[in-house]
Amino acid sequence: MARVSAAEAMEIWERSVDRPLAERAMLLAQLAAPASTPVELARAAIGRRDLSILALREETLGSRMACFVQCLDCRAPLEFSVDARELVALEASPGPDQARRELVAGDVRIAYRLPTGADVAAVAARLDGEMARRELLERCVLGVMRVDGTAGTFDELRDPELDALEAALEACDPVANVSLATTCAQCGRQSEFGLEIVGFFSTELSAIAKRLLTEVDVLARAYHWREADILAMTAVRRRRYVEAALA
Ligand SMILES: [Zn+2]
Repeated sequence: MARVSAAEAMEIWERSVDRPLAERAMLLAQLAAPASTPVELARAAIGRRDLSILALREETLGSRMACFVQCLDCRAPLEFSVDARELVALEASPGPDQARRELVAGDVRIAYRLPTGADVAAVAARLDGEMARRELLERCVLGVMRVDGTAGTFDELRDPELDALEAALEACDPVANVSLATTCAQCGRQSEFGLEIVGFFSTELSAIAKRLLTEVDVLARAYHWREADILAMTAVRRRRYVEAALA
């Protein structure tokens, strides 16, 4: 199983700065599955992609995921943790990525497939959230069948049917739609927060990369070592040298 090295964390951070989430997801997915081509990764269902990113994160930082949020009422800082293994357990067997699925909503039968990284990237540039949502759903619809057996179109689908389709897509990909509830110790309000694995791990990697930059800076000044050599050290050894250099 892959894990993220110090040099890779720096590279991912550098290539992720100011890039949209969809692009950062592709960088992490490539690291998680180095044997896959970019085209294969773009065509994988996001649920499967997120599971592989979650596994990469677990291999790199362990299964405990520390979450820091603010109470939605009194803004008190809340801290809680999630176990990555519980998130993995949420995922039912995702089936083949491009499998045709069907659902009945109202009086239509909708054939659909799961959204891929390419779908999400294609709609990411839309500024209007509702338009982006519609376009994503439309990309996933393979066919619409009316109750009388005639073929319908995506544009015939009304809000309740679109909602049912959206719910079906989310149910197929629980890891991408995790909602966590926590209770505020100050005011007692229970708040719900979404956990988005790509954003979560990419924020953690940025923090790691920034710490590494500082360590490289300290050690290069003190000992004139090369960046690549400093990054190749174990974290324990690097930290000891930093302590010695700053002593
Ligand atoms: Zn509160």
